[in-house]
Amino acid sequence: MTNFNGEICLINPVAEKITGWCRQKARYMTLPHVLPLESLESSGPIFDTTTLNTSKIVANLRQVLTKSDGSECPIELSANVIKSERDELVVITFREISQQLEYEERIRQSTFYDDLTGLPNRALFINRLESAINKRKRGFEDHFAVVFLDLDEFGAINEGLGHETGDKLLNDIAARIAMTVRPDDTISRFSGDIFAILLGTVDSAAGAIEACRRIQIAIERPITLGSTTLNISASAGVVFNQNSYDIAEEMIRDADTALHRAKDGSKGSYVIFDSGMYRQAVRFIERKMSMQQAMQDGAFEVYYQPIVDVKTEKLISMEALVRWNHPLEGPISPAEFIPIAEKTGLILPLGEFVLRSVCEQIREWDKVGFGNFRVAVNLSARQFENNIPQLVRGIIEETGISPESLAFEITEGIAMKNVDQNIRMLDELRALGLSISIDDFGTGYSSLAYLKRFPLNTLKIDRSFIKDITENEDDREITKAIIAMGQNLRLHVLAEGVETTEQVEFLRASGCDFIQGYYYARPLPPGQIIPYLDQQDLV
Ligand code: C2E
Ligand code: MG
Ligand code: MG
Repeated sequence: MTNFNGEICLINPVAEKITGWCRQKARYMTLPHVLPLESLESSGPIFDTTTLNTSKIVANLRQVLTKSDGSECPIELSANVIKSERDELVVITFREISQQLEYEERIRQSTFYDDLTGLPNRALFINRLESAINKRKRGFEDHFAVVFLDLDEFGAINEGLGHETGDKLLNDIAARIAMTVRPDDTISRFSGDIFAILLGTVDSAAGAIEACRRIQIAIERPITLGSTTLNISASAGVVFNQNSYDIAEEMIRDADTALHRAKDGSKGSYVIFDSGMYRQAVRFIERKMSMQQAMQDGAFEVYYQPIVDVKTEKLISMEALVRWNHPLEGPISPAEFIPIAEKTGLILPLGEFVLRSVCEQIREWDKVGFGNFRVAVNLSARQFENNIPQLVRGIIEETGISPESLAFEITEGIAMKNVDQNIRMLDELRALGLSISIDDFGTGYSSLAYLKRFPLNTLKIDRSFIKDITENEDDREITKAIIAMGQNLRLHVLAEGVETTEQVEFLRASGCDFIQGYYYARPLPPGQIIPYLDQQDLV
């Protein structure tokens, strides 16, 4: 406690202990003598003890105190004025905060640094990126870039060799990255096995790619952990900032998009983000959302394309092809939305919708005495992962159609994945009475040895071979070879995408069984099918 002249009236035992001054000596000394203070941070506030007045009231101000023995300690101090009748006094209370500062530092560390590698974590990375973006907005000249790195097959290593090895590996990788970039670049463990690097100054996108490649090459050098030597690679997404970013989140989003692209490619590849990618990503999300809406609104419809027997020129079957009539954009091609439905899992409800619509349609046609053909439904890989025979059995029962009027088309890609399981499922479907075609044949890579084991009825030669069949000798030879092979395997052969008389003639002469294409008919809405067939005399 001091008077307004700053002379000490009283110090208590704790203050004696902290300052190192005893009560008798301190008394009547001025405050700056007993309590010499400096600010805690370099440009922080200082509590001026030379003059004291009511404006000096402070609370919890952090200062560094120099004790009587010359050593320093951090304190937190408050000052209050007490007015008595005779005098005005200032009471200064303070406590030592070394331990508290230590705790705070530890908390700061775990808030901003990764425990495992000691690298900045996601929060600090975002923080630094935000500063870089702001600096640039204020006119700072340098360009900068963000690199996202994801270790290839880290999950497998972690599981195979144990988490301890996985942790060591992450530490080693962190060290390698640190040796490759400049000291003022920020390396962060962003999450799991994803590292994010902020390249503080790069002159061009090419410079960013070079830096990225250097890091990737450093990671690819064999890593020895205990008795194992590992060959690791990392995929990378790179974003170069040219003024276009306002907030860190956008740049991180784009780095992530580019990284996903790189992951789709071969191991250890990189992709540099461009705005086209962003537009595509946005489009993907929009499509995904509007497809979910379309499912609810019933905006999907099934069209049917006749398939004709080459010899008799009569309808033999039809292919069910889904259509999406977008309320604003008009019809959208299944070539565009089926892949999205597959990626998002929407193919499961959509596929079920198609199957149910087809079965209901078959029943309708059957009722009007028009049921002497099969309808083929396209199946995608995702549907195959679920128990498709069970679904089919259910819908057939529900609609009461004959399984002989239903067929499935699968692509080579599906057929060749999980071969044994798929053969079992196809056998089940065949046992029900369904027929199976291989779609787009010749574009995938089926092993002919496997093909023999599949319970197939028909090979559909892909449209890409049929397209140029009249001009291109190679395509003609391939088509003839597929037909011959199909006949040897006792399969029917169907050519899709047939548009001209010349194509029909060639296919007929080569022994092709069935034809599908605009030559006979485009895919038609169900209501137009019977009138069309009547008119063309195809039934
Ligand atoms: P796909 O199964 O190979 O179907 C044949 C595609 O060729 C259809 O395209 C059809 O309209 C088109 N096409 C038929 N004849 C001709 C022709 O003479 N000339 C030309 N240029 N094209 C012809 P679409 O309807 O656009 O379907 C594209 C693909 O989308 C289909 O190829 C199929 O893989 C997939 N798809 C369609 N509906 C479904 C479905 O319900 N489920 C699944 N999983 N996929 C479907
Ligand atoms: Mg098909
Ligand atoms: Mg096809």
